Amino acid sequence: MSDKQAIRQLLVISGKGGTGKTTVVASFAALARAAVLADCDVDAADLHLILKPQVLGQHEFSGGQEAVVIADRCTACGICVENCRFDAIEMDDVARVDRLGCEGCGLCRRLCPEGAIELRPAHSGDWFVSRTEYGTMVHAQLGIAQENSGKLVARVREEAYRRARDEEKPLVLIDGPPGIGCPVIAALSVVDLALLVIEPTMSGIHDFERILAVCRHFGVQALVCINRYDLSAKNTAQVEDYCAQQGVPVIGKIPFDRAVVAALVAGRPAVYDDGPAARAIKQVWRGLERHMYDRGSAG
Ligand code: SF4
Ligand code: SF4
Repeated sequence: MSDKQAIRQLLVISGKGGTGKTTVVASFAALARAAVLADCDVDAADLHLILKPQVLGQHEFSGGQEAVVIADRCTACGICVENCRFDAIEMDDVARVDRLGCEGCGLCRRLCPEGAIELRPAHSGDWFVSRTEYGTMVHAQLGIAQENSGKLVARVREEAYRRARDEEKPLVLIDGPPGIGCPVIAALSVVDLALLVIEPTMSGIHDFERILAVCRHFGVQALVCINRYDLSAKNTAQVEDYCAQQGVPVIGKIPFDRAVVAALVAGRPAVYDDGPAARAIKQVWRGLERHMYDRGSAG
């Protein structure tokens, strides 16, 4: 798509995991049909369990550097071992770096009198481009014990955007990371609209207030959807009151519905059922479309 502005980026987030966010995103994917999908929940990627992607390409991701000892230059002087404050170097016949412990600070390289240490890109994870029944999907897997700094999230989001442009798709639908840290900021910083999926619990309300503050900070319009709203009428009313005070639209309330659990177990989007949750999700989607496209056409 030549007009960059014509591609909308919709991020679905929650203050924490377990709110049903991925269930909602998978259903939106089925309803949209013309979206490129981005699973930015790289710590606990599970959108693939429902959308069953067929991997077309796998790519290594490097989010930092790691030290490597050139064994035949090392004289085993021990300087690097003594000075690595992460205790990431051990001495055998020569020095050896523990890849999981190395933070890539580069101190050992500076101190080594033999020039026996190099810094190389660390393999932090992999990202994938896949085909699903609902469109192209970009997703990722962090490496074991790798910290999610947000760089891999940004990579997934950028690649999904690029695919949407190449495929002339009007929408990038992003399953966002939980929390309010670097990963969610990496996903949030450039989107048009964020849908906050929250649950009516005291911790859910607290998480919601924090994530709303982050949306405000980045100037991203937030909409709210309350999932399993009927589990607590009192807390749902509290969420609605808070949203009204803050001027944040609640565009839907999804009831608890065992059909959603059955759909998850079966590995299919919940929206294919005809139960109350499926109907509510469709209503939320229609509300989102109005916000995305009416606002866009208005300028
Ligand atoms: S500082 Fe250099 S020479 Fe000394 S043990 Fe470490 S790698 Fe080997
Ligand atoms: S780069 Fe830093 S953390 Fe890694 S081994 Fe060298 S001193 Fe330790």
